[in-house]
Amino acid sequence: MSEIVTEKILQIWKEILCDLRTAIGEQSFKNWVSKLKILSAEGSVLKLMAPSNFVRDTVFSRFSEDILTIANSYGCNVKSINISVCQASISDDIEIPDSIQKKEETDSFADVSVLDKRFVFRNFVVGKPNEFAYAAAIRVAESETTPFNPLFLYGGVGLGKTHLMHAIAWRIKELYPIKKVIYLSAEKFMYLFIKSLRFKTSISFKEMFRAVDVLMVDDVQFIGGKDTTQEEFFHTFNELVDNNRQVILSADKSPSDLAGVEDRLKSRLGWGLVADIHPTTYELRLGILQVKAKTYKVPVPENVLEFLAVKISSNIRELEGALNRVMAHAILIGRKITIDVAQDVLKDLLRSNEKSITIEGIQKKVCEYYGVKLSDLNSAKRHQNITNARHIAMYLSKQLTTKSLPEIGRNFNGKDHATVIYAVKRVIALADTDSKFRSDLEVLTKSMES
Ligand code: ADP
Ligand code: MG
Repeated sequence: MSEIVTEKILQIWKEILCDLRTAIGEQSFKNWVSKLKILSAEGSVLKLMAPSNFVRDTVFSRFSEDILTIANSYGCNVKSINISVCQASISDDIEIPDSIQKKEETDSFADVSVLDKRFVFRNFVVGKPNEFAYAAAIRVAESETTPFNPLFLYGGVGLGKTHLMHAIAWRIKELYPIKKVIYLSAEKFMYLFIKSLRFKTSISFKEMFRAVDVLMVDDVQFIGGKDTTQEEFFHTFNELVDNNRQVILSADKSPSDLAGVEDRLKSRLGWGLVADIHPTTYELRLGILQVKAKTYKVPVPENVLEFLAVKISSNIRELEGALNRVMAHAILIGRKITIDVAQDVLKDLLRSNEKSITIEGIQKKVCEYYGVKLSDLNSAKRHQNITNARHIAMYLSKQLTTKSLPEIGRNFNGKDHATVIYAVKRVIALADTDSKFRSDLEVLTKSMES
């Protein structure tokens, strides 16, 4: 392998990295992308190497689109990225790319290749938390006109915003092939805008966006604080909406809560339909796992799915990741999948999903529930409501934390351990005889655990 070519690809990679730094910001660049090494840009695959699975997965989910666009703008002609993991230093065996010609600018953001084939409506499991956003997405995708403009989808990380956006794009392509649809992330919008300024092509940049029927911009929270990009976005947005072109946006917050976004833009963003995706429920998580499990050749026992659905409540991306890990492990090791196996494989993940229950947290919730003040809970007052609240709080502290009886007592304004024992006994006795008390206890216990 010739030294010169090796140098050439490294040189281009350096330039790609420079552009990436501008596109994704210094912090993201430093934390993730700067850690990558290039292996080759052969055929349509850009091969990279990451120092850990974590870096690989993050780069893959957050930056692969940017890397592809920028690599293509340097003539790499790549369609996908492959990132392998290697903790050790990378060998010198760098392969040669097929052709590297410097091209001016590519429009690959408008390309179907950025749309994930799996992100279609068919694969989207609908439940209470997302049914409204789903219905709005279908409506916008299938309507010939612009039923609400813009459609603004918002919700936390990994709850399905990008999935819905891609699904809309696919459906429009299927129903109205002549419609020109552009889907891109707000980061890429900004990157293209900056690049157009650099190459003095901003007129064609504007024309490009203004000639679309449907513009979809994902993760618009990203333009917060980026004033010139925001200004440009605002103009593009207004022009499209004024001309009855459909605009679809997503963000992690509602328009009014977007930080660093000008008020006039915020209010404009909320003009159409704002649909939020709520945090997942147990039913939805289980539903998603069941659908996903069917795609595997190896059956996954229902109780394992239930276990994952209870334990991993953060977001759907993590949930899918967990199931994939359990499956990969089971297939590789050839072990039957059981709850114990899942627990073992997911040790680290489960720990971070475990909500830690504290005595303070218990006191706060119990006070809220009984409508008593924290100072009363920790006083010597004997009003029945207060006594019940105090005893339940002590009981739950014993049941749900690992604190000792004296420690619990200390947290209730210096009571001794005998007081805590008395409280625990009284709660057990009352729960046995008083049905209202029993139901209070049940609600409170459940609310601590979820
Ligand atoms: P966001 O853009 O909100 O951060 P994504 O759309 O990227 O989240 O979703 C994260 C992962 O979860 C994707 O793999 C997606 O397919 C999956 N997912 C999210 N919601 C659903 C759902 N309702 N049904 C099936 N898969 C879902
Ligand atoms: Mg997303």
